[in-house]
Amino acid sequence: MTIKLPELPYARDALAPHISEETLDYHYGKHHQGYVNKLNKTIEGSDLADLSLEQIIQRKEPATFNNAAQIWNHTFYWNSMSPQGGGDPKGKLADAINQSFGDIEKFRESFNKAAALNFASGWTWLVKHSDGNLKIINTDDAETPLTDAELTPLLTVDVWEHAYYIDYRNARADYLNSFWQIVNWEFAESNL
Ligand code: MN
Repeated sequence: MTIKLPELPYARDALAPHISEETLDYHYGKHHQGYVNKLNKTIEGSDLADLSLEQIIQRKEPATFNNAAQIWNHTFYWNSMSPQGGGDPKGKLADAINQSFGDIEKFRESFNKAAALNFASGWTWLVKHSDGNLKIINTDDAETPLTDAELTPLLTVDVWEHAYYIDYRNARADYLNSFWQIVNWEFAESNL
């Protein structure tokens, strides 16, 4: 089975001015595509060739984990944003955020702080813990909450520099402010 690059859920210019078409040309068209190409090259003819992407990630084999997890993380990230996004969460997601963080402003503050302090090339996530609480976690490199049975990922932001350097240079905080303008709460709620 060949792993395919999933379609972007919107046009490459649809997130502008928050995320430019040029960023998506590189980030989706070159980085995400590159992880797909490298993984396919590595699994070709191996015992991993017939596995799904999720199964390859769960195997955690050094030769394939990084590319496989980066494919999955990026698809999740594209879905975490929408041209119709932004505003505040509603319904049961809003209830869960209020219960775990106090209110949406406190949540956004904590999430921004975690993302700002994420020293790695990595990811900041909103996850649901099996104890019922929502939590904010950082992961390094390609690491993903998908491999932690206690965690269900709800939302993510990519804080690798390649995610924002074209549009924001080194200003990660400005990138995060823009992320909230296009955040896809409906996607996050659908994962709850
Ligand atoms: Mn990325």
